[in-house]
Amino acid sequence: MLVAMSVGATEEELENVRSHIRGEGLTPHESHGMERVVIGVVGDVGARKERVMNKLSALPGVASVTPISRPFKLASREFHPKDTIVRVGGAVIGDGNLSVMAGPCSVETREQLLTTADAVKAAGGTILRGGAFKPRTSPYSFQGLGEEGLVYLSEARERTGLPVITEVMESSDVDLVAKHADILQIGTRNMQNFPLLMAAGRAGKPVMLKRGLAGTIEEWLMSAEYILSTGNPNVILCERGIRTFETATRNTFDLTAVPVLHHLTHLPVVADPSHATGKRWLVRPMALAAVATGADGIMVEIHPNPDEAWSDGEQSLTLEMFAALAPVLRQVHELVSGLGQDPAMAAGIYRRGR
Ligand code: PEP
Ligand code: MN
Repeated sequence: MLVAMSVGATEEELENVRSHIRGEGLTPHESHGMERVVIGVVGDVGARKERVMNKLSALPGVASVTPISRPFKLASREFHPKDTIVRVGGAVIGDGNLSVMAGPCSVETREQLLTTADAVKAAGGTILRGGAFKPRTSPYSFQGLGEEGLVYLSEARERTGLPVITEVMESSDVDLVAKHADILQIGTRNMQNFPLLMAAGRAGKPVMLKRGLAGTIEEWLMSAEYILSTGNPNVILCERGIRTFETATRNTFDLTAVPVLHHLTHLPVVADPSHATGKRWLVRPMALAAVATGADGIMVEIHPNPDEAWSDGEQSLTLEMFAALAPVLRQVHELVSGLGQDPAMAAGIYRRGR
């Protein structure tokens, strides 16, 4: 439930509400707006709901108590209307500018990574991606360089100044990956690996949570809730395509998820047309389409020589293709920057201030 304090409620009244919430064995999570404080009540109220609501409503300084219809609280825009802005190194995600994350599917060699990192930087990319721990369908496929790959990613960051995002696949690797990465990526196959979500959240670095390949938007936001519940507010969502009956593409790119998420949650939304489509020639049109839906960022796989890539070469852009795409992404982003003001966007809670 959400407790909205009256405009001008005193600190003493606020503290009284907090202590009543704690007294019920629940946790208060506060959101301080321009005018008033809203307190999200987190925990299992179950059958006590009505009694607790009545009790809180009667406290001095409380304007209203509303039950939350959505099962995710910390991720919900109802509780936290203002967009979450994630700052990492010199990069900012979710502030209305377009984040462009690019790099190879896998870190293969030092030279391959540094060449690609230079190209990301030169084209105006904002974040370098690269997998060191790779979730492969076959145990016989290249599994990633592991720690060696992380060391190359660190070197690429020093060289270019670009923050680095890379996947962590198991809880026991979180500390190691967090030592080198600026953003921890949770891959599609681990969207509901709850112990991993908690471990990644506790590492204190921003976490990008990819959509499970069979995950509903609600399940995805519940997974984000796990990370947020560790006290880490810096969660980014990434739509990367879902499994449907369609086989023409690797996955089905659910671009509707972008505005739906902006409506439901304050978290930044990134879209990955590379894993969504699986085909190089589809990456450019679908990246542009994703930006047109209001995505806060794009993640694309690029490679100096895609035909020789150790993983996902078929969907990787050449460095030249990426250099040609980046400025057009920015043009489209400029054109749709007023999307949040569209009166048809329901309830006035979509993208405030944009
Ligand atoms: C990746 O981005 O490297 C990756 C493996 O993506 P996904 O988890 O979306 O398949
Ligand atoms: Mn890949």
